[in-house]
Amino acid sequence: MIKTDVLIIGAGPVGLFAVHQLGIIGLKSEVVDNLDKVGGQCIELYPDKPIYDVPAMPECTGESLTKNLLEQIKPFKTNFHLNERVEEISKDKDNWKIITNKKKIFIAPNIIIAGGVGSFEPRKFSVKGEEKFENKGIFYSIKDKNLFKNKKVSIFGGGDSALDWAIELSKISEVILIHRRNEFRGAKHSSEIVRKLEREKKIKIKTPFQIDSVEGDKKINSIIIKDESGKKEEIKTDFVLGFFGLIMKLGPIAEWGLNLDKKTIPVNTENFQTNKTGIFAIGDICTYPGKLKLILSGFHEGALAARACFKLARPNEKYRFEFTTTSKNMQERLGVKKSD
Ligand SMILES: Cc1cc2nc3c(=O)[nH]c(=O)nc-3n(C[C@H](O)[C@H](O)[C@H](O)COP(=O)(O)OP(=O)(O)OC[C@H]3O[C@@H](n4cnc5c(N)ncnc54)[C@H](O)[C@@H]3O)c2cc1C
Repeated sequence: MIKTDVLIIGAGPVGLFAVHQLGIIGLKSEVVDNLDKVGGQCIELYPDKPIYDVPAMPECTGESLTKNLLEQIKPFKTNFHLNERVEEISKDKDNWKIITNKKKIFIAPNIIIAGGVGSFEPRKFSVKGEEKFENKGIFYSIKDKNLFKNKKVSIFGGGDSALDWAIELSKISEVILIHRRNEFRGAKHSSEIVRKLEREKKIKIKTPFQIDSVEGDKKINSIIIKDESGKKEEIKTDFVLGFFGLIMKLGPIAEWGLNLDKKTIPVNTENFQTNKTGIFAIGDICTYPGKLKLILSGFHEGALAARACFKLARPNEKYRFEFTTTSKNMQERLGVKKSD
């Protein structure tokens, strides 16, 4: 069980800056994100695209913004719990009890939801046998490629992830790449490598085919694929990998008894609190009259939510507004070295 002042849901740009705003006023936070990396939409959707409207940064990319935000919160030595989705929250006396899908438990007086457009989740196969084998023989991401060493692996998809993994796994596994179109969507260079590997008999390619079912009892024995005319074919395989891109789902946030407005959470703009005391929402996930879904708005929202968290985390102390330029306390927390 992990006790902290504030549990932040979401490691997008807004969740990351909230760590800073909490840190400088002396509050400790832990961050949970469903993705395997920090940065939210900036990293997942547009790491190389330029951004021109972050204050004092005439130009940055999704990736460089994330790197700078991480650099800025380094002094606070924050723990990130990645690849973990917050599933449940419940009241526990004066605290909130937060449980993730890996059954990790956090106890905190405050929760800041910086969940953006919800959790990014892989688009899955919708065929017989999917649920039975998910995370056993069917995977949508790869954590350790050695699992597939010397095995038969059927890879579905035509984008960059499918092509990159087909190329990579062809070095250690028997790979069959299956796509519903004859042309691949991924980078031209990767498509060319895949075609070359096919000519060298290092990869098998099946197009235009789609999955029809997954067969097996305790483990996968084979898959049935079908072409456009409905003609079916059985392929012996040990593993099935699907790379069909990500979808964004509000996910479990919708089940926590919070007021919702479509897929966003209405907040009080004085402190960004939701309808529940101690639960705040900032960034793309919150809504209020005039809300702009911009990174800079999320930074402001995090600054106000952090000050409101102080009241619940330190009920016997009085919060005093200070500037970082002159506050000795804040500078100590930031690890600023004295120059005299
Ligand atoms: C192509 C594109 C270009 C853009 N360009 C600009 C621009 O130029 N300027 C600008 O200001 N904005 C831009 N934006 C918008 C900007 O990216 C968003 O406003 C910003 O990312 C919102 O940040 P966030 O931290 O609120 O949410 P997100 O970045 O969406 O991060 C939320 C995180 O929360 C996680 N999460 C959600 N639910 C859970 C859960 N239950 N458990 C665990 N984790 C969870 C998600 O996995 C995600 O990582 C652009 C967006 C796109 C798509």
